[in-house]
Amino acid sequence: MKKIGIIICARYSHCGGGKCFRALRERHGGFARYAPEEIVEIVGYSTCGGCPGGNVEYVPGEFLKNGCDVVHLATGLVVGYPPCPRLGQFMVFIQEQFSLPVVVGTHPIPLKYLESHSRLPFWKQAKMDRVAADLLKESRELMESYN
Ligand code: SF4
Repeated sequence: MKKIGIIICARYSHCGGGKCFRALRERHGGFARYAPEEIVEIVGYSTCGGCPGGNVEYVPGEFLKNGCDVVHLATGLVVGYPPCPRLGQFMVFIQEQFSLPVVVGTHPIPLKYLESHSRLPFWKQAKMDRVAADLLKESRELMESYN
């Protein structure tokens, strides 16, 4: 069993979570690392609280009270315009402060975002090909199904 906490970018605080929960169910994107037969449970779900991400200081602690094993930073932090400039700091902070592993990504990158970012400088500047490497391994067909 894997107990998962999810932190989304507050710019998308009205998001209904449809893509993330589809990806969890179908083991796509950041959730492809979990076998289909492995039981997964969402033990917490929060926004970062808005720039500069004040909720990140304490929501992983809330997740831990529910037995959290791993924190996923939602794909919105990767595909926003611009991507979250604090993604790397969030990863280090959560790992160091709470001893929780961090996975970058929830649902696959929608193809329309991949195509936009390939024409923009942000991902290169953020070294997103390395930071979000697992998400970028998905097929274009799958990414298109998340548009
Ligand atoms: S860009 Fe980063 S810090 Fe700002 S709202 Fe989104 S996740 Fe939070």
